[in-house]
Amino acid sequence: MKIGVVGCAGRMGQMLVRRILVTAGCELAGGTDRAGSEAIGRDIAGITGLDPIGMLVTDDPVQLFADADAVIDFTSPNATERHAALAAQAKTVHIVGTTGLNPGQIDALRKAAQHTAIVHAPNMSLGVNLLMVLVEQVSRTLGPDFDIEIVEMHHRHKVDAPSGTSLGLGRAAAAGRGVDLDAVAARVRDGHTGERRRGDIGFAVMRGGDVVGDHSVVFAGEGERIELGHRAGDRGIYAVGAVRAALWAHGKPPGLYSMRDVLALG
Ligand code: NAD
Repeated sequence: MKIGVVGCAGRMGQMLVRRILVTAGCELAGGTDRAGSEAIGRDIAGITGLDPIGMLVTDDPVQLFADADAVIDFTSPNATERHAALAAQAKTVHIVGTTGLNPGQIDALRKAAQHTAIVHAPNMSLGVNLLMVLVEQVSRTLGPDFDIEIVEMHHRHKVDAPSGTSLGLGRAAAAGRGVDLDAVAARVRDGHTGERRRGDIGFAVMRGGDVVGDHSVVFAGEGERIELGHRAGDRGIYAVGAVRAALWAHGKPPGLYSMRDVLALG
């Protein structure tokens, strides 16, 4: 299977290139980065520290989507929206890890998914997707007497908050209670906030250093507290999940899929 990487010079892009090169049954179809990036014209493997493979980074996603069976995309929301249209046109599988998409951009993914298989997940790791299933179950079991708070920490370069994973965990907790996250999310607290609203799902965000990604979901009741959490130690886990998603989606009918589908977590 020929897999391409858009944004191949980024932190995740480089991980993905390395992963594709060592995965049986996968071949690197090519890689792009944004026009003007200093990576353009350099060797795709070379920029990750591996020996050169004679394949250069381009700024031409149209060609890449035409050449590849699947394209993995960990870039920016605007870039991902454009890439989804190209995936639909070329009928190429599109694996989207980009976070911070606005509702219009998620709609654009949904439209593109009428023409090709798209897997979109704010977190591609096995552990976090399992955590989402557990959070939904615990939330359903405990009910609204327990207050739900989601706490995360990421490295200093992260540009969106709360993290896509935190929001995904929030959606799982809300689903367990049969409510819509948007109606109960408390994303910012500052100054005289008044008492906590019953049923709210709160978010707290820390940024610093080189933390790959820590998430905890706290269920706080009267006299007891349950905490479920995940700590990522290596970005490689996301690359493993993304390549697994590409292999899974190859040959699937058009549709917008999640890592729960890929990992058969129900
Ligand atoms: P990064 O800034 O290191 O990399 C992004 C890369 O995309 C850069 O090289 C940038 O030049 C490139 N890019 C931007 N616009 C482009 C365009 N139009 N065409 C081609 N390339 C373009 O960021 P990162 O840490 O690798 O994260 C990227 C995204 O992936 C973020 O949204 C992040 O939150 C998300 N992420 C998701 C998961 C997951 O499991 N789903 C895990 C880690 C990071």
